[in-house]
Amino acid sequence: MASSELINIGDLKQWAYCPRVVFYHRFYSGSGVPTAKMKMGLSAQADIESLEARRTLKHYGLEAAKRVFNPWLADVGVGLQGRPDLVLESADRVAVVDFKLTGDGVGENHRYQLCGYSILAELATGLPAKTAFIYRLSDGAVLPVEIDEKLRAEVGAAMLKIRWMIENEEVPEATDVRKRCEDCEYANYCGDVW
Ligand code: SF4
Repeated sequence: MASSELINIGDLKQWAYCPRVVFYHRFYSGSGVPTAKMKMGLSAQADIESLEARRTLKHYGLEAAKRVFNPWLADVGVGLQGRPDLVLESADRVAVVDFKLTGDGVGENHRYQLCGYSILAELATGLPAKTAFIYRLSDGAVLPVEIDEKLRAEVGAAMLKIRWMIENEEVPEATDVRKRCEDCEYANYCGDVW
């Protein structure tokens, strides 16, 4: 499998949010209009890393772990690639951390994202990834996400659907949650939802 055929973890996350975004990413790459939230996330990243590098790892239960910020992870066998915010590697396990700017809870899209990164982190380190974390910057909360068999199966099924969509070049259904369309980089492409 060529690297261009690997599924980006960002697209795996988007699939759970709205499958059409993944279609546009793949077939109209670079044509979306970045939203205010996306711009805020990019500018905050360096500050977050600086803060997180000085924090104790106690809240992750991994005090002696090695921190690796933004490692590029890819695996041709599993067909995924991506760059998690932070990977914590201890003697007997590995855990992925995603920094989240907004104050809401853990959505299905975050669970898919963290599962994808965890699978890649396991393959890169040879260590099990049983739990991943969202670090919510608005209040400093650390939210654990179990990377269990059910979630892994859901992610595997989503990957099959994404591959089918790519091979058939078929536009997926719009999200049922139309509020998401109000803050979407591809809002101009979806005339049927307005
Ligand atoms: S505008 Fe709505 S349906 Fe279209 S890609 Fe964005 S979220 Fe999905």
